[in-house]
Amino acid sequence: MPENDNQSKSVLLDEVLEVLYTKREDGKVISLEGLARVEHFGLKFTREIIEDSVNAGLVEKADGVLILTEAGFARAKQIIRCYRLAERLLTDILNVQDNLVESSACRFEHVLSEEVTDSICTLLGHPRTCPHGREIPPGECCRRAMTEVKAIVRPLSQLISGETGTVAYISSPFHERLSRLESLGLSPGQEITVRQVRPSFIVSCGETELALEKSVADEIYLRVSTNHAKN
Ligand SMILES: [Zn+2]
Ligand SMILES: [Zn+2]
Repeated sequence: MPENDNQSKSVLLDEVLEVLYTKREDGKVISLEGLARVEHFGLKFTREIIEDSVNAGLVEKADGVLILTEAGFARAKQIIRCYRLAERLLTDILNVQDNLVESSACRFEHVLSEEVTDSICTLLGHPRTCPHGREIPPGECCRRAMTEVKAIVRPLSQLISGETGTVAYISSPFHERLSRLESLGLSPGQEITVRQVRPSFIVSCGETELALEKSVADEIYLRVSTNHAKN
């Protein structure tokens, strides 16, 4: 088989693993026929890909549905991690237009090594969710919280008194909380300065001072300025 076919096959295999991972995340399952419909590469080709992945020990067929094996789950997790970090990078740091994010993130996931992925993760402050609120599987870097690359984006809760930053994004599963923060002026692009970290977080945001709970401060990610503001 020519090399190109092998390459595109491995890309398609990655996509299949991704679909199975997302289904599992949602507590759902999918059949071969269902997968062929989702992926649009035809039943015959989908069957070939699945045969390959079964032979490679990545997927199992059980009761008419497809299930990730432990090895398949581990590989899917790394692909998903890469994809969702790429989404964060493209959306929050590079300000890439929404309609271009998906196709670009898709390309990232097949080319980035685990090491590069961890560097991006570190640079972004080890974010826990993608812009759609889905979990980014943590990597080695998150567990070790590496300090070699200083994070330019960090959760507000990790800042010290006097530090200033611009809100990069807010990563909260609670929609009400998001809109409440937005109504207080805490939205991407807003500059804030930390006034106090204990017993509660107090930040100044424009003309106003706001007190925030730790759990809220954990969810606000700031692009930290290198110059510390004086108290
Ligand atoms: Zn996403
Ligand atoms: Zn990380």
